[in-house]
This record gives sequence, structure tokens and C-alpha cells, in this order.
Amino acid sequence: MEPARSQDVHAGFATRQPDGGLQICCEQKWNLLKLAIEVLFALLLLTPLAYAAPPAQEPAIVYVVQLDDTLSAIALRYETTVQALVRANGITNPEFIYPGQRLVIPGASPAPEPVVQSSVVHTVRRGETLSRIAWRYGTTVQALVAANNLANPNLIHCGQKLIVPFASPAEPLPPPFVAVELTPLPVVQGQTLVVKVKAEGIVGLSGLYEGRPVVFEGEGERWALVGIHALTEAGTHPLKLVATDAGGQQVEVLLNVLVADGGYGVEDIVLPPGRASLLDPNLIRVEQERLAQVFGVFGRRQLWVGPFIVPVEGPVTSRFGTRRSYNGGPVRSYHEGIDYDAPPGAAVLATNDGRVALAEPLTVRGNAVIIDHGLGVYSGYYHLSEINVQKGQLVKRGDVVGKVGDTGLATGPHLHWEIRVSGINVDPTQWIWETIP
Ligand SMILES: [Zn+2]
Repeated sequence: MEPARSQDVHAGFATRQPDGGLQICCEQKWNLLKLAIEVLFALLLLTPLAYAAPPAQEPAIVYVVQLDDTLSAIALRYETTVQALVRANGITNPEFIYPGQRLVIPGASPAPEPVVQSSVVHTVRRGETLSRIAWRYGTTVQALVAANNLANPNLIHCGQKLIVPFASPAEPLPPPFVAVELTPLPVVQGQTLVVKVKAEGIVGLSGLYEGRPVVFEGEGERWALVGIHALTEAGTHPLKLVATDAGGQQVEVLLNVLVADGGYGVEDIVLPPGRASLLDPNLIRVEQERLAQVFGVFGRRQLWVGPFIVPVEGPVTSRFGTRRSYNGGPVRSYHEGIDYDAPPGAAVLATNDGRVALAEPLTVRGNAVIIDHGLGVYSGYYHLSEINVQKGQLVKRGDVVGKVGDTGLATGPHLHWEIRVSGINVDPTQWIWETIP
């Protein structure tokens, strides 16, 4: 508003009366009326035009396809048809749409729910992970991977620009939860998932994954390790977190853990006739029970420090996770550790600090050493020709625990090394490459 100028304009039309009102002369009245009619006419003309053709600068609705979307579901949401969507977007196969794909919605009336209408570009900052970014925008790592054609979701760099297709403003975590981070995400079958939780003023935090308790450690930022079973179906699996505040109130959140396929192949193990008898289910059961005793009790203190080391010098002859068939039988198991080819008598090293939880001969695993690294993390060393430690003994990373052999169910001298987390055998290579948590 410019009051001074509008006073000038009115000066020619009106004279100010002593009572403060305005008196307008006849000619000026007519001019005003004409102006009013013109304006009204222009409005009448313009209004239907505005409805018939929206101004060009107003963008059409662009919808970014989400996981599990179908064309018919999108058509239903925007009160349009699959045919109209196919035509508007030049889609050749209506069965094939992909997360992150941008679809123009023809003649769309805005959807009642605030659904995806645009993407934002996020510049990766130092220390950010894809899962953290996904959390921030209320989207999924999978959607980010698809929208940005990422080959490896763990490889993003500072300054990288990412398209974030978002479904709704990031759904805030209910208090007292402040932040939850899952690493890596997606987690590959057989990997170890690290769950980090920030919550304010809580006295307790517990979790449940696949029917197994998730036990948290630490103060302030709490963390837990979850072993993802190698035979877990690829896809999303729920992780439940329950926080208890000082007043005894419990708040529960349900998260989706995205498990990716490990691409594990199948190998057939041919056992020599004499050794095949070792597969007697009763003998296997007795050994399982012995192991259950060992794994049932673990130290409440973290003993491992930094990454684990390779236990023996030699090439890997069988990696973790390979599905197994014995003598051409059906696949019921997978390789629960890593096999190293090494000459009989080669030194086998403790892969990290811990306490010896088992040092004795077993039927299937042969001469065995199991180290308790605390908090439910164990390493196992099997088929040894010699055991060089005793139960209860504290060992340091690099200490010799035994010698390579072929005792138990082995087709030749080799070391079988495995790592167990929260009751599940996990891929040990992750523990060599990374410092967990
Ligand atoms: Zn093995």
C-alpha cells in the first residue's frame, strides 16, 4: 500500500467534507460505474477460462512410484484409469513399473492423502549413511537405491547428491524415541545387523526380531547386535523395539529390516563311506545339546576389540552361507562358517580377545575350541588335530588356540572357523572388514 499516492489519485474525484466523508460528483460516479462493470465483465470472462485451462506454469501432478505400487492402485488413488496412465507416460508394459519412476498423472484431482508429489535432492554430509537419510525423509533404503541407481548402498560419499523420493513428511518416531539406526541396510542374509537407538529419559529398552530377544547395551546411545539367519527369506522382517520410561510407561515402535539375498549357491559334499555314519541324527543331537549348553551362558562384558583377524594362513575353500547337500541328499543346511585350506599342524589363532568357553573333542566338529567374546558373540575353530587352550582361559587376539587337522566330519585337513551372534551363525568376513558395532 502506498497511502500518499492514493490520496493524490482521489484528489481529482472527491472533495473531503467537514464530517470526514467523501462526496463524488455525477461524472465521476459514471466513470466509477463503468470501471466496475468492466472489471466485473473481465472477471466473468476470465473465470471459466481459468477452469478450462490451468495456467501453464502450474505443474501437472508427478507421482514417484513407491515400493509395492501397482499401476491400478495409483489409478485408483488419483481417480483415473490404468489406460490413461499408460497413455500419458508411454508405458509399454503396465506390469512393469519400478520404485523411483516418475509418472505424470493426467487430469488428476489431487489425492485426498498427501502422497508423493515431488522428490527432493539431498546432499550427503560427512558420516551420513543411506539408512540415516532414509529415516530422515521417512523413506526406505530400497527406494533410495532404486531412485539413484546405486550399485552398492554402503558406498555413498560426502557431497554426493541423492534424489529422495518421499512418500510423506518423515514420520517422526514417537517419544521417547529420538533416533534409530540400522546398519547395514539392506542387511544381507547371514550378516550381523547393528541396531542403534537414541531415546530420552528411558529406564529400559528391549527388542524382538524373528521371535528372538534383542538385547541392548550401553548408556545414552544404546546398541544391539542381531544375527540375521542365512536362510532368512529376502524381504522385510519386523523388528519391535519397546522403550520404558521412568514412570513405567511403555512405547513400542515397529521397524522394517530389509534383508537382501546373499546369492549363496549350493554345493554337494561327498563323504567317504566310513565318515557318512557320523551323520547319525542321534550323534548330531547330542552335539547340538552340548553346544546349546555352551552358547546358553555368555559374558555380560564386551571382550572383543576392533576388527577380527583371519585365524589361519591359507586360501578359502568354502565360504559362508553356501547351501549344502550331503552325498546328493536334499538341501537342509548351509555352511555355517568359512573353510581354510591349510596343512595339518598349521597354527590356528584366536581371532579376537575372549574367554575359552569350550576346548574338547566333538563328534561332528572334531577337536573344537569355542571362544566367548562377550555379549553373545562367539568364535568357533573346528577339526583341529591338537587343542592348545583350556576352558576358562583368557586369550588375546593372535594367541595360538590349536593346530589344523581333519578330526570329526571333515573330508581332509582344513580349518572351519565360524562366528555366532545372538544365537545365529553369521558371516565372519563382515567381522574382519568392519569394527562392530
Ligand atoms: Zn566348514
